Amino acid sequence: MNYLSTRGAGAGERHTFSDILLGGLAKDGGLYLPAAYPRVSADELTRWRTLPYADLAFEILSKFCDDIPAEDLRALTRKTYTAATYCNVRDDESAAQITPLKTLGTENDAPLALLELSNGPTLAFKDMAMQLIGNLFEYALAKHGETLNILGATSGDTGSAAEYAMRGKQGIRVFMLSPHKKMSAFQTAQMYSLQDPNIFNLAVEGVFDDAQDIVKAVSNDHAFKAKYKIGTVNSINWARVVAQVVYYFKGYFAATKSNDERVSFTVPSGNFGNVCAGHIARMMGLPIEKLVVATNENDVLDEFFRTGIYRVRKAAETYHTSSPSMDISKASNFERFVFDLLGRDPARVLQLFRDVEEKGGFDLAASGDFARVKEFGFVSGSSNHDSRVETIRDVFQRYDTMIDTHTADGVKVAREHLQAGIPMIVLETAQPIKFGETIREALLREPERPAAFSGLEALPQRFEVVPADVQRVKDFIVANTGA
Ligand SMILES: *Cc1c(COP(=O)(O)O)cnc(C)c1O
Repeated sequence: MNYLSTRGAGAGERHTFSDILLGGLAKDGGLYLPAAYPRVSADELTRWRTLPYADLAFEILSKFCDDIPAEDLRALTRKTYTAATYCNVRDDESAAQITPLKTLGTENDAPLALLELSNGPTLAFKDMAMQLIGNLFEYALAKHGETLNILGATSGDTGSAAEYAMRGKQGIRVFMLSPHKKMSAFQTAQMYSLQDPNIFNLAVEGVFDDAQDIVKAVSNDHAFKAKYKIGTVNSINWARVVAQVVYYFKGYFAATKSNDERVSFTVPSGNFGNVCAGHIARMMGLPIEKLVVATNENDVLDEFFRTGIYRVRKAAETYHTSSPSMDISKASNFERFVFDLLGRDPARVLQLFRDVEEKGGFDLAASGDFARVKEFGFVSGSSNHDSRVETIRDVFQRYDTMIDTHTADGVKVAREHLQAGIPMIVLETAQPIKFGETIREALLREPERPAAFSGLEALPQRFEVVPADVQRVKDFIVANTGA
């Protein structure tokens, strides 16, 4: 499998999966994609239907990472996708499913279900990919006798998923910046209670953007970055996207009896990483009817799928909402879909994303390309705080099921796109305990807390408070890498 950049640089070069695993953007600023999507045969679909999650993951991933020896890849997926890791389930018997399907009911003659993606260590769907990344990174680094220092900034979900994926891994350290005293007590405890010596929590005296700016400044110091082997695990990482393709297959098999049936998925979206994986599953031949993009008040993506206009939001127009993991001003994986939408024309992708940088967006409404959005199955909708609260309440009363704020955005928008006879699967991206304030507002009761998390906030915490100062952060990295 060869990988290319959406912006076309180095078109003649070969990039294997391992070549791009530890990197981020391609050198022309584009994103990596396979030179062609592997197609899944009818025989494979039949054979895969009954596979356990780890073996399904092996079958799918082996099409994309054919440079990793099969026995190694199989060992990696089996080590990653275990019932012990994805144990924070509603029903005990479903842990073995890794991503159990929870049927809600039938609405407008369409079966409605949740695909539980948040039963991992940090109770959010990012664990699905990040746990695999932790094992892949450790494997790749050991092969070449290398080490990696992951530097990141987080306002919650991504940072904790990265830390739980990298804790105790050979050759890897994590330096995670978070805004001091700005996260919820639960999120803070989740990250800061980790005692692993390779995990460093830096509580920055400032807001999330200050932390983010420090990470950018350190990454732009190329000499420092090279000397201290600084890397990232942000959402544009190709391995993260491809790991997410697996649960679309798993969800499809759980919701259907035969491969003649079609299903639709609704995806609570921010950076377009999750739904991009759904797009890839569809391109591989999985019988997906619709991919429903659900946004919150930050509706950059909904606006595009309704109008053909992609308009990046300014800071003042980017809202802090009660589904905070979808609060984005631009969608960093969107370029991957645009590349396919434009018939894989890198020159036009380059021009459009130059327009994004220079003019803040682009408009495909008048071009024939936008009409093709439907061929790719995409539709969209958005949600707001009131509809989120109302949906949490309604799903609890009607189906005795407590959902988090992001999943509520998904259910709200899914209901606008139901088709008779076609199962609608809403991806459950987090558990309610992470967003307790809105649960209390909606249900006047405490969110459900998985047993493993009782007393979390009382555990001893390990973190370092630092001023919002690039040099102080660099000094900390130098002092703790022994380089
Ligand atoms: C990250 C996240 C999302 C958004 O996923 P994208 O891949 O960025 O579109 C939605 N819900 C939750 C809970 C998340 O953590």
